[in-house]
Amino acid sequence: MDTSLGIIDVVTETATLSHRIGGEPDAAPADRHTDVTESATGRVVARVPMATPEIVDRAVAAARAGAQEWGDTSIAARTKVMFAFRELVHSRREDLAAVIVREHGKVFDDALGEVQRGLEVAEFACGVGELLKGAMSAQISRGVDSYSLPQPVGVAAGITPFNFPVMVPMWMFPVALACGNAFVLKPSEQDPSASLMLADLLAQAGLPEGAFNVVHGDREAVDALLTHPGVDSVSFVGSTPIARHIYETATAHGKRVQALGGAKNHAVVLPDADLDVAADALVSAGYGSAGQRCMAVSVAVAVGDVAEPLVAKVRERMAKLTVGDGADDGSDMGPLVSARHLEKVRGLVDAGVEEGAELVEDGRGLSLGDGHFIGPCLFDHVRPGMSIYDQEIFGPVLLVVRCDTYPEALELVNANPHGNGAAVFTNDGGAARLFEQQVTAGMVGINVPIPVPMAYHSFGGWKASLFGDLHVHGRHGVRFYTRDKVVTRRWVDPAGRRGVDLGFPTSD
Ligand code: NAD
Repeated sequence: MDTSLGIIDVVTETATLSHRIGGEPDAAPADRHTDVTESATGRVVARVPMATPEIVDRAVAAARAGAQEWGDTSIAARTKVMFAFRELVHSRREDLAAVIVREHGKVFDDALGEVQRGLEVAEFACGVGELLKGAMSAQISRGVDSYSLPQPVGVAAGITPFNFPVMVPMWMFPVALACGNAFVLKPSEQDPSASLMLADLLAQAGLPEGAFNVVHGDREAVDALLTHPGVDSVSFVGSTPIARHIYETATAHGKRVQALGGAKNHAVVLPDADLDVAADALVSAGYGSAGQRCMAVSVAVAVGDVAEPLVAKVRERMAKLTVGDGADDGSDMGPLVSARHLEKVRGLVDAGVEEGAELVEDGRGLSLGDGHFIGPCLFDHVRPGMSIYDQEIFGPVLLVVRCDTYPEALELVNANPHGNGAAVFTNDGGAARLFEQQVTAGMVGINVPIPVPMAYHSFGGWKASLFGDLHVHGRHGVRFYTRDKVVTRRWVDPAGRRGVDLGFPTSD
C-alpha cells in the first residue's frame, strides 16, 4: 500500500494545508490555524488554515466564474470528466483510505469501504444525462408546445462532517458537478486532507479551474458561505444543532438548503428474531468506526424476553474485538477522532453510570499511548430521560432498552426526536411490514442494521435528522442541484394570427 500520497503531496510530517481556489492552492497567510491530529497517536500531522470571509468571497467569485464556463459545457463533456474522475479515485483509493485512517482513525478496510460508497455516487453521476431530460408536451394549444428545462442552480456549497471525509463530500459534488454547477466545499477541519486529494483528482480529470473549490474553516467560514449572495444552494451534513442553524440562516438568505443532522438509530429485536444474526448486526453496527457513523445502531430495543440471551450474545462478540491503530491489520476498531471527542464520550459513559444504567461492558480502562482510544461499552436497562439515551453519543457505546411489547417498542422509536435510520430484526414478514409502514425514520432496515441507500436511491432521515425537503444523491440530488424552467413556444404562423386579445390565455 502506498501511504506516501505520491503525486498529491498534501500530507507531509506536519503539513500546512491550503485552501484550493480557482484550481490553485491559496497560500495567503492565515490569521488562524487548527491542528489536525493522527487519531491513533495524538500527534499533530497538519495545520489547517481557517478561512476569513474575504477568502470565502474569493472562493465564491472563482466558483461563479467556474459555474459560467462549466454550466455551458455539454452533458457529454461533463460525463467524460466524471468517468475520468471515477477512474482516478478508483486508482488512488488506497491512498485516500490511508489519509482517512490517519486523520479520522477508522480501520483501513472501513476507510476503503467509505471510498467505495463515494465512488458509487460518481458512477451514478456518470449517467446523469438520463435524469436531465426534462419533459415535453407538444400541442398544449394549437401550434403551441411546452417543455421543461432542468438547469444548474449555479454555485453549490457543501459543508461536511468529520466522520466520512471522502464519502459525504462525494454524496454531493459529483451530482452537483454533473448537473453543471460549480462547487465550494468546506470540509471538516478535523480531517481535511482527503478533500484536497479529491480536488486534485477532479483537476486531473479535466474539470475546469473554479468549478471545484475548497475552503477550510469553522463557523466564520461557514457563516460567510451561508450569507454570501453568490452561493445558490447549501448542502450540509453534521450534527442537529448546526444543521438547524445552517437551514435557518441559509434559507433566510434565499438559498435552497438540505441540512442533514444527527441520529439516534434504534434496532428493534422481536422475540422471533434469529438472535445470532441480531447480535452480529448490533456489534458490527454499534462499534464499527468506533460508533462514529450517522447510521450506527446506538439503541437496541429488546422486546419480550429476548434481552437476557441477546445481551449475552452481544457480550460474547464484544470480547473478541481488537481495538488498535486503524492502520494495523489486526484492528477491528480504531480510536475516536479527537481528544475532545474522547472526553465527551467518556463523560457520557460516566453520566450513564451515575444515572443508574447498568454498564455491563466498560471500555473506559483502555489506554493506548496518546491515541484517542476508548474500548467498546455496553449499557443495559437504559431508559429515556438518561443523558446517554437523550443525547447522541457518537462513540462505541451501545444501549439496550427493554420493552414488553412491539407497540411499546414502536412508540419509543417514534418518540425519539431523530429519525435517521431504524431497523427491525424478525422472521415474521407481517411484523416487518408493519414496522416499515409505521416507523418514523427515513431509512429502514429489515434484518439489516445499517440501511444506507445505494447511490441511485437517495439518503436522508426524518424529523431532526433532516432540515429541508430533499435527500442527498439519487433523484433527489438531481432535483436539488437543478431548477426547472418551463418554456411555452409558438412559431408564428401568419395565417393563425389572432390579433390583440386581453383575455387570460387558455388552450383551444
Ligand atoms: P458538526 O456539526 O460539529 O460539524 C459539521 C460541519 O459543520 C463541519 O464542517 C464544521 O466545521 C461545521 N461547524 C461546526 N460548528 C459550526 C458552527 N457553530 N457553525 C457553522 N458551522 C459549524 O458535526 P461533526 O462532529 O463533524 O460530525 C458528526 C455529526 O454529524 C453527528 O451528529 C452525526 O450524526 C452527523 N452526521 C449525520 C449524517 C447524516 O446523514 N444525517 C452523516 C454523517 C454525520
